[in-house]
Amino acid sequence: VIELGTPQKSVITTCAYCGVGCSFKAELNGDQLVRMVPYKHGKANRGHSCVKGRFAYGYATHRDRILKPMIRDRIDQPWQEVSWDEALRFAADRMRGLQEKYGRRSIGVITSSRCTNEETYLVQKLARGVFRNNNTDTCARVCHSPTGYGLGQTFGTSAGTQDFDSVEHTDVVIVIGANPTDGHPVFASRLKKRLRAGAKLIVIDPRRIDLVKSAHIKAAHHLPLRPGTNVAVVSALAHVIVTEGLMDEAFIRERCDWDEFQDYAAFISDPRHSPEATELLTGVPAADLRAAARLFATGGNGAIYYGLGVTEHSQGSTTVIGIANLAMLTGNVGRPGVGVNPLRGQNNVQGSCDMGSFPHELPGYRHVKGDEARAVFEAAWGVTIDPEPGLRIPNMLDAAVEGTFKGLYCQGEDILQSDPDTKHVAAGLAAMECVIVHDLFLNETANYAHVFLPGSTFLEKDGTFTNAERRINRVRRVMAPRNGYADWEVTQMLARAMGADWHYTHPSQIMDEIALTTPSFAGVNYEVLEEKGSVQWPCNEANPDGTPLMHVDGFVRGKGRFIVTEYVATEERAGPRFPLLLTTGRILSQYNVGAQTRRTANVVWHDQDVLEIHPHDAEVRGVKEGDFVRLASRSGETTLRAKLTDRVSPGVVYTTFHHPDTQANVITTDFSDWATNCPEYKVTAVQVSPSNGP
Ligand code: SF4
Repeated sequence: VIELGTPQKSVITTCAYCGVGCSFKAELNGDQLVRMVPYKHGKANRGHSCVKGRFAYGYATHRDRILKPMIRDRIDQPWQEVSWDEALRFAADRMRGLQEKYGRRSIGVITSSRCTNEETYLVQKLARGVFRNNNTDTCARVCHSPTGYGLGQTFGTSAGTQDFDSVEHTDVVIVIGANPTDGHPVFASRLKKRLRAGAKLIVIDPRRIDLVKSAHIKAAHHLPLRPGTNVAVVSALAHVIVTEGLMDEAFIRERCDWDEFQDYAAFISDPRHSPEATELLTGVPAADLRAAARLFATGGNGAIYYGLGVTEHSQGSTTVIGIANLAMLTGNVGRPGVGVNPLRGQNNVQGSCDMGSFPHELPGYRHVKGDEARAVFEAAWGVTIDPEPGLRIPNMLDAAVEGTFKGLYCQGEDILQSDPDTKHVAAGLAAMECVIVHDLFLNETANYAHVFLPGSTFLEKDGTFTNAERRINRVRRVMAPRNGYADWEVTQMLARAMGADWHYTHPSQIMDEIALTTPSFAGVNYEVLEEKGSVQWPCNEANPDGTPLMHVDGFVRGKGRFIVTEYVATEERAGPRFPLLLTTGRILSQYNVGAQTRRTANVVWHDQDVLEIHPHDAEVRGVKEGDFVRLASRSGETTLRAKLTDRVSPGVVYTTFHHPDTQANVITTDFSDWATNCPEYKVTAVQVSPSNGP
């Protein structure tokens, strides 16, 4: 029993795990954090929380934290602890030297969806304003970049359309490629409440997730599609709606481009999109496809919620477009209870994208080729901005292997663990002459680093995170940074070491600059956030209280745009050597590769990853419950324990990726989304065989 005592002080802040963005009261005794209490006035969570936000903060004081900067000449040498001054001088000299030798575009940055908006903004500003190129990318590349592309193309802005409250007005919900119960638990509770009150549910997922059948909830339809066939299923739903005349023609005529709709209607009416043809491709019975489409089109307010099971595919962007088409077809945009709602995995995926982390977009999703947009930042920063889009993460690695990309500043992201094709990532990093890792722990990427700059946790900084409903929440400093500096200060020191004239003394000044340069943030400042608690962008003169619902009177791009969605099968095919299809997901108590949750003292965190396999597939392989199995793909292999379950269909296996030993990315392929390069983590052809253990 631990005696916590009466807290002497409390600070309201925001959870740094998932995109729900729950508010917490951090309670302290002296300078020791003793409790995280869900904050009842938090607009995203209203006093609720999950186990991670409430208990998994111990990593902040874990002994593995690196608190002193380190440098080394070559990656085969041991690290040497140095002062901040020396580390920053070393890093700045190297990066400047690389640009002199190899050119302005030979170095770049990676921003983090774990860091604050203000920190992300500064890192992309470092690339554009100090390195003078657009080589900036974000870890959102490997999760929700197709959301940015798909919703940008169809609706005109790269964000979810609704607030979480909207679910209370929903009559029919499609959950596709998401498992909110484990991934977004606090939102899942609100969704379940609505379902228990009578809303109908359609689940599109290869696996029978909890929502399909749990206490007092039973999905009207579960469409257990073959991994990799999302586009075909979504098109089949649209086919039924169009060919049976169930679309909302008045909405389409008023709100969408009618000519484009007619082209789309002709395309989607083709018999190749019929439920019968789709059953052959996807394994989903035609009758279920037809019934689900009719329910969604005629059941009242229809909302679609989706996750990485949509985006992390070679056709991730196409599926996002298909989902947007479906919402427009049925008139389900622009009022409470409807809409297209990406469930963001990390706490600040939305914010890192909003802040201009992508190599082609300035903050506020404005293309770098746009003269007007560049002029805004050129005036604010006093520099000339390169009009040429920069390199995405995979292109940086390719260019490194080819010898033209030489230096990287990587903040809060372990690309060696989280990006696909581990061997290629390692080769790219090894070919660089200056890798600067700015992180809490000596992660896998740091094995290839020349400079290690200690990072700070969310408890040690001020700033803002933007959650999945575009809500800008305050992050408040609960304790002094153990490493001496918040991450935004470290980026500023690096920029200054490279000659920049930056003098921010508080993140509120960075937010003021964001408001000055980015129209959707024009009304956001720390006083407003203090007064209102949080606001949803766009927040500006036209919407001073923020915007809970997007596209109410018209789409951001004007008319909504229907785009044809041709299904193209992934190149990853099951065959005689690798006859099963592997797909992946999360569990409630763990977070990504466990860097934080595994460094929090609590037995809950120490679950192992297991391989879910259908009893029939297990039996023919001589595998029993709990046995070790070898999971092999064309890329690599790993060992896991088997869990026999009919949650997965025959021919499909499933695992989580939380334990570093699992090394799921050794198994996955290097196929990626055609539009954004988001890796195809959700489909890998594999074989499973008995094993004696790791
Ligand atoms: Fe944190 Fe997400 Fe859990 Fe809320 S639901 S406490 S934001 S991990």
